[in-house]
Amino acid sequence: MITAAERADFIEPGEIEALLKGGSRPSRMRVRELLAKAKEMHGLSMEEVACLTLVEDPELLAELFLTAKSIKEEIYGSRLVFFAPLYISNRCANECTYCAFRATNSGLKRRTLTQEEIAEETRILIRQGHKRVLVVAGEALPPRGFEYITDSIATIYATHVGPGEIRRVNVNLAPQNVDRFKLLKQAGIGTFQLFQETYHRPTYASVHLKGKKRDYDWRATAFDRAMEAGIDDVGMGLLFGLYDWRFEVLSMMQHIRHLEETFGVGPHTLSFPRIEPAVGSTLADAPPHAVSDADFIKMIAIMRLAVPYTGMIMSTREGADVRRQTFAVGISQISAGSRTDPGGYKDGEGDPNGSQFQLGDHRTVEEVVADVVSLGYTPSFCTACYRLGRTGQDFMDLAKPGEIKYHCQPNALSTFLEYLCDYAGPVAKTAGEKLISIELQHMDGQQTASTLPMLNQVRRGERDVFV
Ligand code: SAM
Ligand code: SF4
Repeated sequence: MITAAERADFIEPGEIEALLKGGSRPSRMRVRELLAKAKEMHGLSMEEVACLTLVEDPELLAELFLTAKSIKEEIYGSRLVFFAPLYISNRCANECTYCAFRATNSGLKRRTLTQEEIAEETRILIRQGHKRVLVVAGEALPPRGFEYITDSIATIYATHVGPGEIRRVNVNLAPQNVDRFKLLKQAGIGTFQLFQETYHRPTYASVHLKGKKRDYDWRATAFDRAMEAGIDDVGMGLLFGLYDWRFEVLSMMQHIRHLEETFGVGPHTLSFPRIEPAVGSTLADAPPHAVSDADFIKMIAIMRLAVPYTGMIMSTREGADVRRQTFAVGISQISAGSRTDPGGYKDGEGDPNGSQFQLGDHRTVEEVVADVVSLGYTPSFCTACYRLGRTGQDFMDLAKPGEIKYHCQPNALSTFLEYLCDYAGPVAKTAGEKLISIELQHMDGQQTASTLPMLNQVRRGERDVFV
């Protein structure tokens, strides 16, 4: 049996610094060689990623974006998977200087939702059309202890509104020990998501001032423990703006390499949060290594080339315009209509004095759906892989030969049609139906054969049909 690493020795700053110091701007020929290699969809090495981070030439950047777009389309088709965060508590024992939830922030209104309040938030998300939620909490448990978390997950799964329900609960929570990870697995979580914030140890020490989160190694080895506990899908990320983004991206590559070498499978998803303004945080108002929009888009495109089969998530931290640009170069999952204060869906606008950070995209789910449809993407509310046990290596086996298009695209259309039938207003409905008929025309015979019967089932009132 593989046991979890205790020290994050797999992050090797020496290797990264050597790559960054040694790297001069690559020749056109070298860049084009790398883009051609990426198109084979076997990923890129750290050295190759380092090389692409140095590309500045507008013509080469345009080629990089086109390559990222074609890889995304080849693997994911036109799909964009939707989810919403569900904040259950903003109480926290840690002191992360960039976050409004930090323990000593007396300006924040503290709230831990009751199970009934969690059910109410869930009902609102279901009525908006969501099928996936990401449970988020600060790092301080109420007196009931960890059971509060597992009860909250059970409450979300047990909540129904007519035919609507949440079918996949992912979590973004503090790192746990193996036994608690087993409890999360038993509770039926999909992905365990955790952001390292920064892989640069001195910066990590300078922004985490108090509490368990000060322990860099405990956090960086959390996925090892999660995998040891049987959680196959882990979601990696870090908070961009704390340290040099090139160093961070290469560290993420080392972390991915470690998981692949140790467990035979890398992360299920990558997230790219940039620091947003947060109540009571001067750091968040002026991040020390703010990542420009141009570098942000470039980084996402490079990661699409580096790990072609890994889901990539874009939250509502970003505004609509930046989000649109990231969809084109590799993002495959997006949140919509989000609130970052516990109880924020019921309270309507969300309370800035209870929120974790300021949002960049304030549109409703329906507005985001209409926007992505107008751009030619298919909103997907699919959760089939998880429920059929296609996680971890099984998911990758399905994904790698490109077979995914025979499962995911049909499921995307059937769940989008569910959304249109049950939750969409007339404008989104007309646009959505038009998109479905265009998508059907683009399908091959095998895809149409599995999709059409499912669409008919949904139109007849059946729900939760998938292949
Ligand atoms: N408390 C747990 C933790 O820190 O891992 C889990 C939830 S925490 C609320 C989720 C994530 O929010 C953090 O990992 C961090 O990356 C992100 N975050 C914190 N402050 C932020 C800010 N000002 N802007 C954008 N994201 C932020
Ligand atoms: Fe607490 Fe997480 Fe915010 Fe840090 S990032 S203060 S651990 S909620």
